[in-house]
Amino acid sequence: MTILRLAMPTPLRRSFDYLLPADAQPHQLQPGSRVLAPFGPRKLVGVLLSVETDSEVPTNKLKPAIAILDDQPSLAAPILQLCRWAASYYQHPLGDVISNALPVLMRKNQTLPEQTETYWRLSTEGKGLPEGALKRAPKQAKLLALLQQRDSLNSDDLARAELSRSHVRSLLEKGLIESFEQKRASTVSSQVATEQPLSLNDQQRAALDAINTQGYSCSLLEGITGSGKTEVYLQLIERCLQEGKQSLVLIPEIGLTPQTLARFRRRFSCPIAILHSALTDRERLIAWQSAQSGEAKIVIGTRSAVFTPMPELGAIIIDEEHDSSFKQQDGFRYSARDIAIKRAFDRQCPIVLGSATPSLETLHNALQGRYQHLPMTQRATGASAPAFETIDIRNSPMQDGFSPQLINAIDQQIHAGNQVLVFINRRGFAPVMICHSCGHNAQCPQCDARLTVHFGQRQLRCHHCEGQWPLPQHCTECGSHELDFRGSGTERSEQALQQLFPETPVIRIDRDTTSRKNAMQELVDEVHRGEPCILVGTQMLAKGHHFPDVTLVAILDADGGLFCADFRGPEKMGQLLVQVAGRAGREAKPGRVLIQTHQPDHPLIQSLTQDSYQQYARQLLHEREQTGLPPYGYLTLLRAEHSNLETAERLLSDVRQQSETTVRKVQCFGPLPAPMTRKAGQYRAQLLLQANDRRALNQRLQAICHYADHHPLGKKVRWSIDVDPADMF
Ligand code: ADP
Ligand code: ZN
Ligand code: ZN
Repeated sequence: MTILRLAMPTPLRRSFDYLLPADAQPHQLQPGSRVLAPFGPRKLVGVLLSVETDSEVPTNKLKPAIAILDDQPSLAAPILQLCRWAASYYQHPLGDVISNALPVLMRKNQTLPEQTETYWRLSTEGKGLPEGALKRAPKQAKLLALLQQRDSLNSDDLARAELSRSHVRSLLEKGLIESFEQKRASTVSSQVATEQPLSLNDQQRAALDAINTQGYSCSLLEGITGSGKTEVYLQLIERCLQEGKQSLVLIPEIGLTPQTLARFRRRFSCPIAILHSALTDRERLIAWQSAQSGEAKIVIGTRSAVFTPMPELGAIIIDEEHDSSFKQQDGFRYSARDIAIKRAFDRQCPIVLGSATPSLETLHNALQGRYQHLPMTQRATGASAPAFETIDIRNSPMQDGFSPQLINAIDQQIHAGNQVLVFINRRGFAPVMICHSCGHNAQCPQCDARLTVHFGQRQLRCHHCEGQWPLPQHCTECGSHELDFRGSGTERSEQALQQLFPETPVIRIDRDTTSRKNAMQELVDEVHRGEPCILVGTQMLAKGHHFPDVTLVAILDADGGLFCADFRGPEKMGQLLVQVAGRAGREAKPGRVLIQTHQPDHPLIQSLTQDSYQQYARQLLHEREQTGLPPYGYLTLLRAEHSNLETAERLLSDVRQQSETTVRKVQCFGPLPAPMTRKAGQYRAQLLLQANDRRALNQRLQAICHYADHHPLGKKVRWSIDVDPADMF
């Protein structure tokens, strides 16, 4: 008897057995192949885990699968193995882990789309255009000139020329070009490299030489901002190419900018596949297939690209390894960094974790000698790293969040023809709206949170449930018109800067000003023109950008992270401040970093401003050691939510008790209400598990899942497990 054991895309923590479909060919019976099978009233695409001769289900109850969809397994053996490991490590249903690993179109029973793509060429009108037209729109003129040289361009050509879709759109609207569909010659086009490798400095050379491409190693490349980590990555990739191997590069969501991609494209003539969340399903599939076939030699992607099949994988690089976007925060809550390390180990290839501000977990592993520690302490361009200075704002007269010293410092730089970056990690106009007559403040009706004023849109918004309401004219409690906006967000800082410096353009960069496609690129282009300007924005400004003319970085409020309820608050604050500071003085002009604080004597502020992130991080590690928090102990958070808090807590306390006897060596705290107890109308409770022994913790989690799955409340309460949680909310 031949039984197909399948992982199905369901939340159930088990596999499902089926009989062979009628027309199955023996060569199709390979683990990792997709199988269409009936599932209740539906038909779902599962993945073959194994072929068995026996089932626990009586044979007459088994149904035949409908069809085996693949001749070659979609999920290559190493990826299936990685999925199995992740399912067990994160206590997540294997079927759902596999769904995360496959492109959407592969999860559906669809024939794969034809591989055509959009190209652009000159229209008749465009061909008749005199030379030197469109002088006032240089990018559009560049695009036209390119089209005069070559018959047609596709989106890869655009990216390589550092042009965006908005330029195409403008020319399409003017009727100067037209688009057409054409079959792709290759799934991922290659290009001609235009840039030679730089000659490495001593620190870069030492780092690169220490990375052996034969066998597994994990290295922390701890290089300050501007130390030239990217050049080390590029030359490691070059080495892999010479050995005929593929490289996988994972980048934070926010770091995957056209500038970053252009840098890779300028350097390599081989096909590069890009995988990120803004791709269409079809684009994603094409990129994925080119990696799987071995055609794409380099894969650059965000979190989920860690599962991309690469038969010739030779090295993995994680840029900005501390970045929180590598951790998925809902559903399958995995860390792409940690899965990547496991993948490199399985594959016996090197992995490089790069950061100026490594996570405490990674730093600890490097200090313990588990990872190779490769420091780079100097800026590659010879520029000196900017120094931090604090501005004590206690008792200082403030103007919308700006102290006189800061206003003065900005003024100086603008007059010297430089650019200034003002960082404030809060969107909107003001975080609090309070009635001056009765003291009522605007709360989200669905969350334990205040509403943020968004003045431009005349709205109150909740940043936790994304709820939106029109900005009221008067107090909802007493009717008074005296509504006060307290505190500042980017919108208010922008307004204040416009009033203080009416002659200077102020460019705001946050989620609200960059939500439109290409908006970010257009704003960045404006900064790159090099005219004096003031940038104001959130952490979107902190990462990856290279603004050569920024000489002053101002941090409006450094105190938030010091009093955060989350034990990772100070770590995240330090990383963010150092990353923002790293935007200053990256080229010829030296940079300055000013931090406004009410706590100039706080030991963490002192350590961050007077020493370095390295010192600061070591101090934080010491504190974690005292309390047994990660990386000195392992945490897992069991979350539960329900319209009634007691119900959510009851499930947690029951599974805590039921699993108590199975495994000791695990400490439990709770159930307790979550720090934000009510969110989007649901009450949230949590149970925290802490252990020094990973295996014990994992066993305890297995028991907890088992009890919760079988608990009468297990289906009514939404519950989830978060292994190695990135935040505690
Ligand atoms: P990081 O990624 O560490 O922040 P980058 O790789 O962006 O730093 O490098 C910062 C700048 O230094 C870039 O402009 C890069 O071209 C330059 N650079 C890197 N390595 C060298 C080198 N060996 N010689 C000269 N310039 C370099
Ligand atoms: Zn009132
Ligand atoms: Zn809300």
